[in-house]
Amino acid sequence: MKILGENIDRLCTVDMRLEGQSRGIMDHFLMAAVEKVGGPVALSAAERIMTEVKRGDVVALTTGAFDTRYLPFGETDGPPGVAALARIISYGLHAKPLLLGEKETLGPVEACLKVTGLMVRDPEDAMIAPYTAMVEIYPPGEEEGQAKAREIMDRFKPKAIIAAEKIGPNKNGILHSSTGIQCSAPYARIHHLFDLAREQKVLTIGIGDNGNEIGYGTIADTVRQHKPYGDVCQCECKGGIADTTVVDVIIPANISNWGAYGVEACLAALLKDPDLMHGPEMERRMVEASVKAGACDGAFGMLRLMVDGLPMEFHMSFVHLLQAMVQNKFKVRKRDF
Ligand SMILES: [Zn+2]
Repeated sequence: MKILGENIDRLCTVDMRLEGQSRGIMDHFLMAAVEKVGGPVALSAAERIMTEVKRGDVVALTTGAFDTRYLPFGETDGPPGVAALARIISYGLHAKPLLLGEKETLGPVEACLKVTGLMVRDPEDAMIAPYTAMVEIYPPGEEEGQAKAREIMDRFKPKAIIAAEKIGPNKNGILHSSTGIQCSAPYARIHHLFDLAREQKVLTIGIGDNGNEIGYGTIADTVRQHKPYGDVCQCECKGGIADTTVVDVIIPANISNWGAYGVEACLAALLKDPDLMHGPEMERRMVEASVKAGACDGAFGMLRLMVDGLPMEFHMSFVHLLQAMVQNKFKVRKRDF
């Protein structure tokens, strides 16, 4: 399983974004992240989820990189990633995914969830109905973010909390885009939930592609050293874009969705059920649903079937490769070819 995990980490971090975006940085991020957990990161996250999350438990997930002017309903990187994880958490672990985010960014998330076959229900109904996801608005504001964190932990008692493409604060408490600009959106300060979960010894996982996302505080020195604007941003705060939120497992990925799919693939392998990994057609339908709900491509701010500047075929092929890697792990043993 370790070799599969290493190969999945490798695939998720191969530089293939548009020229000028993150070239040569992922290797540094991955090495630092692997050192923290002592092995492949996606597999480590999946193993810990398997240990902590039992049937009926709640797993909280969050995404949503947005900007009131440029990305008013967020982007296509993030919603398909958390929806794919919600799908396997429900179908594979029989646990209850709880999706958290700003009211602006939850539309595309909910649209992707529906593609996976999960019904979105109120928390009371979710507890009695299988194949259900819950959606909850996380309010903006510092104090509101702290209060909501306490409420979520008390009310839902989540056994794992996962962020994918969710921006966290730098050392001055300020949220930045990957290009070193202060975020203009009224962001949910959901890193408070991760801090509180850590205090309560609840599993925390961060997935991101630039170093400004929740979880990169775990390897912040590496972000400051290797990422443009990591140490010094373009805004007056001069604190750099590196996030400061520490998590149990940080998963660097070339595109954040891919990191989430890496964890999904490892979960499918650990559960010995390759069908739990979503395929290219579902990938296309998830991205399409998120675009219809207003999510833009993050690189161009366009309503196109693209994620981080790469066209749909790229992402379908990526998912196909991951799916094949998991299938092949079981195929030879079964001799069913
Ligand atoms: Zn700044």
